Amino acid sequence: MAFRGVLCWIVLVTLITDCRYCCLADELIANAAYIGTPGKGILAADESTGTIGKRLSSINVENVESNRRALRELLFCTPGALQYLSGVILFEETLYQSTASGKPFVEVLKEGGVLPGIKVDKGTVELAGTNGETTTQGLDGLGARCAKYYEAGARFAKWRAVLKIGPNEPSQLAINENANGLARYAVICQENGLVPIVEPEILVDGAHDIEKCADVTERVLAAVYKALNDHHVLLEGTLLKPNMVTPGSEAPKVAPEVIAEYTVRVLQRTMPAAVPAVVFLSGGQSEEEATLNLNAMNKLQTKKPWSLSFSFGRALQQSTLKAWAGKEENIQKAQAAFLTRCKANSEATLGTYKGDATLAEGASESLHVKDYKY
Ligand code: 13P
Repeated sequence: MAFRGVLCWIVLVTLITDCRYCCLADELIANAAYIGTPGKGILAADESTGTIGKRLSSINVENVESNRRALRELLFCTPGALQYLSGVILFEETLYQSTASGKPFVEVLKEGGVLPGIKVDKGTVELAGTNGETTTQGLDGLGARCAKYYEAGARFAKWRAVLKIGPNEPSQLAINENANGLARYAVICQENGLVPIVEPEILVDGAHDIEKCADVTERVLAAVYKALNDHHVLLEGTLLKPNMVTPGSEAPKVAPEVIAEYTVRVLQRTMPAAVPAVVFLSGGQSEEEATLNLNAMNKLQTKKPWSLSFSFGRALQQSTLKAWAGKEENIQKAQAAFLTRCKANSEATLGTYKGDATLAEGASESLHVKDYKY
């Protein structure tokens, strides 16, 4: 009798645990699919305090909490912009901030149908014995931080791994180390209810051609998906945030159609159909270049079992930042610039962008920063 009691108890606990994992998996899958909704994309507004400081200093605005908050309010409260977004990535400080009238940003986003996300990595450090290659930090205590962020309303996360192209780079060490780091991060996020954005960014720095970028991106993505598989990551509950396949920053440019063909081919060769969406980073392209390249990919007639969308930082904010210049009286003008970019990128996810958003100041300006830190 006692044995039967224990058995029932074990069955009950197993059912509850299974159910918890089932619900967790369902939630991850639903949120990842939602973020990938065609017509919507992600605003990356998760610049660390140092990085946002550089942006603010470019418009002569002091890097203090009130100015960082004001910029984020300007973006999140732009009338009509949230309809084009499914997610916004926040820095920890922003997750707990509110509008000037006291409404938490998380509530503003949720009411607009946008999932709040959170940057959870702690930046990069050099890998000893390499030519300046890096690995990303932040795994220690990550589970507890993810649980806290989920509690605060976050539903997805970002972790940026950085690789570079050089005569002997990326090294196999850098590829393996970053792929494993991304996989560990992804599992820990999923255990805590956050959809992990897997971001292996290959920097655009260099004079290499598009073939070289394609070759490296293919090797890196293949290693990343091998690691995600080895670590039992639920692929349906993840998103990929890669660089587009382009020539290096010091090489001649090529047309969006060429970039589209190379990029989609690399994805076809490496990316499982189980992953719902690719959300590209802009990586120093001008606002307009990034939009045109995304549009060309969505126009391309070929096999694409995932949606192709955006998770732009610089390419969604540059003309807005310029128009704002930190002045109250410019807010409307700045919000108009932001709305223009959100709409243009939304159209690009559908392949219907007509190239009519180029007029804003800063839209065609290169946003490349050598050895970019986020
Ligand atoms: P950019 O679009 O400015 O490259 O940044 C996106 C991002 O979130 C990088 O981690």
